[in-house]
Amino acid sequence: MDQNTPIEKEFRLTATQKKALKRLGIETTRDILFHFPSRYGSPLSIKHIADLKEGDEAIVYGKVFSAKTSKAYRQRIPLAEAMVQDDTGKIKAVWFHQAYIAKMLEDKPLVKLKGKVTKRGAYLYLANPEVEKTKTLPIDFADSLFAGKPGEDFLYPIYPESHSVTSRWFYHHIQTILKTDILDRLDDPIPDEILKKYHLPAQKTALIWIHSPKKESDAAAARKRFAFEEIFFIQLGRIGARMRYEKNRSFTVDAKNNDIADFTKRFNFELTAAQNKAIDRILDDFRSGKPMLRLLEGDVGSGKTAVAATTAYAVIATPPKGQKFGNLQVAYMAPTEILAKQHFKSFIEYFDHLNINIGLITGSGCYKYPSKINTEQPTSISRAQLLKWVANGEIPILIGTHALIQKSVTFKHLAYVIIDEQHRFGTKQRMMLAKKDSTAPHLLSMTATPIPRTLALTIYGDLDLTLLDEMPRGRKSIITKITSLAKRDAAYAEIKAELVNGRQLYVICPRIEEPDPTKELALNAKSVKAEAKRLKKDVFKDYEIGIVHGKMPPKEQQAVMSDFSGKRIDILVATSVIEVGVNVPNATMIIIEGAERFGLAQLHQLRGRVLRSEHQAYCYVFSGSDSEKSMTRLKALVQAKNGFELSELDLTLRGAGAMSGKKQWGITDIGMEAIRNIKLVEAARTEAERILSDDQALKKYQSLKTYVTMLDNNIHLE
Ligand code: ADP
Ligand code: MG
Repeated sequence: MDQNTPIEKEFRLTATQKKALKRLGIETTRDILFHFPSRYGSPLSIKHIADLKEGDEAIVYGKVFSAKTSKAYRQRIPLAEAMVQDDTGKIKAVWFHQAYIAKMLEDKPLVKLKGKVTKRGAYLYLANPEVEKTKTLPIDFADSLFAGKPGEDFLYPIYPESHSVTSRWFYHHIQTILKTDILDRLDDPIPDEILKKYHLPAQKTALIWIHSPKKESDAAAARKRFAFEEIFFIQLGRIGARMRYEKNRSFTVDAKNNDIADFTKRFNFELTAAQNKAIDRILDDFRSGKPMLRLLEGDVGSGKTAVAATTAYAVIATPPKGQKFGNLQVAYMAPTEILAKQHFKSFIEYFDHLNINIGLITGSGCYKYPSKINTEQPTSISRAQLLKWVANGEIPILIGTHALIQKSVTFKHLAYVIIDEQHRFGTKQRMMLAKKDSTAPHLLSMTATPIPRTLALTIYGDLDLTLLDEMPRGRKSIITKITSLAKRDAAYAEIKAELVNGRQLYVICPRIEEPDPTKELALNAKSVKAEAKRLKKDVFKDYEIGIVHGKMPPKEQQAVMSDFSGKRIDILVATSVIEVGVNVPNATMIIIEGAERFGLAQLHQLRGRVLRSEHQAYCYVFSGSDSEKSMTRLKALVQAKNGFELSELDLTLRGAGAMSGKKQWGITDIGMEAIRNIKLVEAARTEAERILSDDQALKKYQSLKTYVTMLDNNIHLE
């Protein structure tokens, strides 16, 4: 057996299993060996319905024989309820605030339910269980894997599974592989001395411990090792890319303090201390002789554009080397056309007095400011004309969408690239920019996505970080109210008073996490529709209510949005995934339903949508759970100073697993465990830096080199 053998050569697989494995990213023997348990538990957690007791956390399989929507009588909470039956008995399952689930169960499917057994009066029911349709019921779950060893303290690994490949399937097949000599033929990519230094088990040991731990500490040590390994390799990749970038020549921009002050004094506001500090940092980088790689993190509204404009000014005020006239050039990339246009407008204001050309390039057209005819106005020009002026340096500032980094766009002296709101501007794209000229531009990435510092140090491991942790003074802050189930009506009354005043309201429906993203979209759409209907019928009868969700065609979405900004709609019910209301200043209220399903940082971002007005803004956070823990967590929203603080809280309160690392950042659950541990992240960084900056070290670590090449991680170690 070899680690690269395709899995279907080793084991007999059905077509569905093959597909399922592929979806889990498993193709070779090695892949399955590195498919780690997500937790350890008892195999007895699957139960017969007749065996359920109050307080049990259990999985039951059964057939739905009735499903309907209803209302909890006192608080009129919409809910779904279903009766589920297995060979031994039946039980009710209830989903509060998720009435749409009844629809999903209409055709009486077989289901797997996972949740807590709760008692009301004499009856047991499952409260808000996770529900998943299944094709078959497990036949033999009662004779557990370890039925022969009662009482033994065995940690049973539970694997991320898929319909046709269960956790048990993984367990058996991995055990089979572990019995071969495959482990002896794996090379540990982490050098011994690093393992010793941080007390990490060797790869072989760790693989055994993670799949069949004898005690909890074994499993923990193994997970720590693989967490370190993942972060270490990400760091090798990012830091390696940075080192390569820094080998390029760069433009030296030595801005005079007086000139900068002259530029910033034209702003109709005082820069915050945080903005001034960020500007100073960037100007220092410009003088360093190395191309800058920096990330500017700041909440929405913290004033990132002013930092971008001021530093852009420093660049365009500098003539190219050896010249007395002309300007170095700046490219400013925004993720959407709307944002690019907004920046174009701001820059026209900021640079108006300087008599320089500013260009705009998007998929739908090109503009230049000032127009020859009316010098107060921008004018539409052909793409060819714009590209010509950019290439010969007559347009020193070019703003745009992704259109900006196409091959056809060449600059004469591109010295500074600013990227707005881009999670990750790939190494490849960066290289493209660097190639355009023989000298590499300084790079500033800007983001409002609040993530914890450890995560930033990892995924942005190639960038220096600067935080804008201060909001401009005098900004009206939002009033956030955490509303329990019982106080809903009071909240609705307050909202009505504002609607009467002419304000508008967003209602965000909970995100539904489904293993299958297409299904998730459908469920989200359903919950939006149901909630809009309920609000119209029971709460806001006199107001126009519109809906927007990801299953609507973009044209329809836009039509609804424009109805909302034109105030033909008062209330917009939307899913959390929809980027609603780029700018509807009159929408001053937002309700977030099912808030317990969101991270604090996400809730913070959602409420940022109503911060665009001179009117007082309100955010109502409706939790579907009144538990003390959930309420305490949500209260942090009222106190926190910024999103970054909240993201740190998320990490401590909910754990890394809740941050959906894989989906958002490409980091596995195990890797995310490291993100909780600043020491581990720092260790991985230190070691990666040490290895990459020491040629001798590299020669020593042959298997590390081989491994890195195998991962094809875009890392060139030499
Ligand atoms: P973001 O960080 O979200 O990109 P913007 O740069 O768009 O924020 O700034 C939001 C608003 O705040 C803009 O209207 C801008 O003019 C204003 N602004 C920026 N800095 C300050 C400041 N120091 N004081 C007052 N208003 C400011
Ligand atoms: Mg911005």
